[in-house]
Amino acid sequence: MSNRYSILKLQGKVQHYDWGGYTFLPELLGIKNEEKRPFAEYWLGVHPTASAYVAIQNGWKPLQQLIDEEPDAALTPALRQKFGNIPYLLKVMDVREMLSIQVHPSKENAIAGFERENQLGIPLNAPHRNYKDQNHKPEAMLAISEFWLLHGFKQKEQLQQILEEVIEFQILLPLFRKEGLQSLYRFIMEMEQQSINDLLLPLVKREIRQKQEGLLNKNHPGWWVAKHFNDQHPSGDIDRGIFSIYFFNIVCLQPGEAIFQGAGLPHAYLEGQNIELMSNSDNVLRAGLTKKHIDVQELLANTDFTPIVPNILKGQSRRDGEQVFHFPISDFSLTHVLLNSDTSFEDKAISPEIWVVIEGGVIINQQLVVKKGEAFIVFPGQSYQFLSSGKTSLYKAFVAIPDAYSQDEEN
Ligand SMILES: [Zn+2]
Repeated sequence: MSNRYSILKLQGKVQHYDWGGYTFLPELLGIKNEEKRPFAEYWLGVHPTASAYVAIQNGWKPLQQLIDEEPDAALTPALRQKFGNIPYLLKVMDVREMLSIQVHPSKENAIAGFERENQLGIPLNAPHRNYKDQNHKPEAMLAISEFWLLHGFKQKEQLQQILEEVIEFQILLPLFRKEGLQSLYRFIMEMEQQSINDLLLPLVKREIRQKQEGLLNKNHPGWWVAKHFNDQHPSGDIDRGIFSIYFFNIVCLQPGEAIFQGAGLPHAYLEGQNIELMSNSDNVLRAGLTKKHIDVQELLANTDFTPIVPNILKGQSRRDGEQVFHFPISDFSLTHVLLNSDTSFEDKAISPEIWVVIEGGVIINQQLVVKKGEAFIVFPGQSYQFLSSGKTSLYKAFVAIPDAYSQDEEN
C-alpha cells in the first residue's frame, strides 16, 4: 500500500437548505455566519454532486479522484467487488424546521425507475425527475441532541383514534374502515387543493391557538403543525403533508440513540442535530411539506403502508467508550467513540473509515492533530491510535463486510 493512502484530513461540503439551523454547524466548523444563512448538512463522502476533499502534500484534492487513482489502495477487494466505491455518505445535520415528508425506493425500484426516466428522456437535473441514480437510499441516524422525527405509519388502533378525535378527519373514517390505510392515503394525496384547504384550515387555526395556550407539547402532532406555520394564521394553500404529521409515529431520540429507515418507510425529520449515514444516493420521493416535485403514483408505488412500532437502537458496546451500530443492510455501519482526558483508543481499519470530531480533539499516531469540526479518512489496513486531551466525541462511518468477502456470498 502506498503511503498516500494512510490517514488524511477531509474537508466536507456544507448544504445550505432552507430548513437548516444558523449556529450549530457554523460553530462546529468554525465559520462565521453573520448573514444568518441556514447551515443544514455537512456532507462527508463521494457523492458526485459534492465529493469531500482530502488533504494532500500541497493542498486539497477531491476524495473521489484519490480513490480513482489507486482503487486497490483506497478500497478493499471486497468493497471494490460489491460496490466499486465508498458506498456510504456521512452527514452532520442541524434541523431547525421540518423537512419534506419522504420515502426512498428499494434498489430494484431505483434501477427500474432510473431506466424508465432515461427512456422517457427526462434530463438528470430536471425538477420532475424522481431517480437521480440507480441506488437505494437506506438511512440511519444517531442523535447528537434530543432529536424529533416522523417515522412510519402509526398502528391501526392509533390511526383510528386520530381519525375519530380530530373533527376534520371524521369524514375520512368510513373510507379507512372499509378500505384501509393505503386507500385513505391515496385519497388525501389525490384530493383537490381547494378541498384540502377547506378541510385543514380550521384544524391548523385550532392547533395554533392551542399551542399558544400551552395545551400542546412535542408529542402532539398539533405542536408541529403550529410550528410549521410559525404559530401564525396560514395564508395561501395548505400543504397536504399536514395529514402525515397525524398519521405517522412521532419519535423523540435521546443523544446516543439511533434509528434506521429502510426502503419504503415514510419519514420526515422535525428538529435537532444528528449524525446521518446513508447509501450514496439522492433518490427521494416526496409526499408533502415541500415546494419540490411530488409524483403521487410513484410515491404510492414505493411506500410501505405496514404500520410500525419505531425501533430505537442503543447500539452495542464494543469496549469502553465505543458504541457500534449495525443496520439491516451491508452498505454501512456507524460507531460513536467517547474519550476522556489522557485516554487512548487503538484500532485498525478494515474498510475506508470516515471520521468526524464533534467535541474535543485527538492526536493520531502521535502525528496528526484533529480538533472539533474536523474530519479525516482512514484507509483500509491502516492502524491508528488516538490520544485525547479532554472529553472527545468522534463518529465513524465504515463498512463491516469482511475483507475475505467471497464470490459465493454474492447472490
Ligand atoms: Zn430520507
